[in-house]
Amino acid sequence: MSGDTQLLLVDGKQVPASDGRTFTVLDPSDGTAIAKVALAGPADVARAVAAARAAFTAPEWAGMRAADRGRLLYRIAEAIRHQGERLARLESQDTGKPLGQAKADVEAAARYFEFYAGFADKLGGSTIPLGPGLLDYTVREPIGVSGQIIPFNYPLQNTARGSAPALAAGCTVVLKPSPEAPLTPLEIGRIALECGLPPGVLNVVPGDGETGASLAGHPGIDQVTFTGSVPTGIKVAQAAAANVVPSVTELGGKSPFVVFADADFDLALKAILGASFSNAGQMCSAGTRLLLQRGAEEFLDRLVEKIATLRVGPGLSDPDIGPLVAARQRDRVLGYLDLARQEGATVRVGGGAPSDPALADGYYIEPTVLTGLTNQARCAREEIFGPVVTVIDFDDADEALDIANDSPYGLSSYVWTRDIDKAMRLAEGIRAGQVSVNATGVGTGVELPFGGYKHSGWGREKGLEALASYTQTKNVCIGFGSRS
Ligand code: NAD
Repeated sequence: MSGDTQLLLVDGKQVPASDGRTFTVLDPSDGTAIAKVALAGPADVARAVAAARAAFTAPEWAGMRAADRGRLLYRIAEAIRHQGERLARLESQDTGKPLGQAKADVEAAARYFEFYAGFADKLGGSTIPLGPGLLDYTVREPIGVSGQIIPFNYPLQNTARGSAPALAAGCTVVLKPSPEAPLTPLEIGRIALECGLPPGVLNVVPGDGETGASLAGHPGIDQVTFTGSVPTGIKVAQAAAANVVPSVTELGGKSPFVVFADADFDLALKAILGASFSNAGQMCSAGTRLLLQRGAEEFLDRLVEKIATLRVGPGLSDPDIGPLVAARQRDRVLGYLDLARQEGATVRVGGGAPSDPALADGYYIEPTVLTGLTNQARCAREEIFGPVVTVIDFDDADEALDIANDSPYGLSSYVWTRDIDKAMRLAEGIRAGQVSVNATGVGTGVELPFGGYKHSGWGREKGLEALASYTQTKNVCIGFGSRS
């Protein structure tokens, strides 16, 4: 661990917490300390919000031409790519994710800045015809200071996902990363400053739940973007509502991965490894309920066989499955595996921590496939947030649809069939923000709107739709000349 404390980023400066508190970041692959980070308290959040408020109207930012704002975002995208190798290694070490996946996250983070850079000078309004002597037009104005609270699983991507559209719209940001993965969000903040982002436009204040609560409830915030669990999302939305400001809540999921007997098993197999087991299953969009048509047992056999060959190991060694982010997450998943056995599950593969003594100090869980549960089991309804898939059988498209929708969540869904009628029936009927049909990976691009139905939250991030959260419409009606 380097001796230096990683400081907060407030008003363009790196500063310690006002009460001097710090926390230690652990390497999930072996539990060793890798960094000491300043812990922002409510006073630091207040400082950051004040800086963001001042920056919002400062001429360096508010007076910047939209095209120049776009160019600045492009520079940030290029700088992220330029420093990609270093960022990927840091992300892998901080979160435990395999290095190859961290490299993909770097590229996605760069893509967010690049994608939204192009919109900075295209957020125009419209004119509305009212008749002679009247000119009515709308202006899309930045909403103000955006408070952003992100989880541990995709710190690079989530930093870019929220801040890039906010900055493109002309907002300023106070970002609170998770205490379990704060390192790359701080890096993005520093890179943005080096690229010429004016001080105070992007502030980064790592901290815990208290830090997040003080940001969500701060009266100086104009909008809140939250990504995380349902219980925390409810608290954040309540805090925002108390100040009458809007919130975007990107919450959990228990997404169905539906495989019909007529599916292309080769492609579906490739897809489920990515959709359900990458990032050790710590994905809101993970397809953790494998809905398998009776008659498609070959798919399950092939999946189990493949899973048994996956290499579990430290993220930096670029395995198939890295450790979970923290001991608490590993213990939570182990608890669910105990529960699954109590609920009568058969563990087809995996089922616990790996026995390899070389992995004993890390937070590892074997990739696991459970069968023998119904969709009513807690392990089929609750978000486990680890590399665990629960298999549920169905007979036909109607039953698949019923089971897919029988969930408190509605974030993502995946459908595999060669029959266009079945595919369309599910795409039409599934109540979720995303439906991916016979598609591997492409359903998650930065260009596509992303968000939940039901308890998976509200509002949309990514794509053009995200910009709606960071702008508000002003209508201007002007009367002129002689009017009767
Ligand atoms: P979490 O809810 O515990 O924490 C998320 C963030 O909220 C962290 O920064 C945390 O410090 C902060 N926080 C904690 N208490 C708070 C409070 N009272 N007020 C404000 N902020 C507070 O979630 P997690 O364990 O870090 O992440 C896992 C969850 O995130 C899963 O449920 C997952 O599905 C969800 N997630 C959703 C998406 C999405 O886009 N829908 C993406 C990634 C993760």
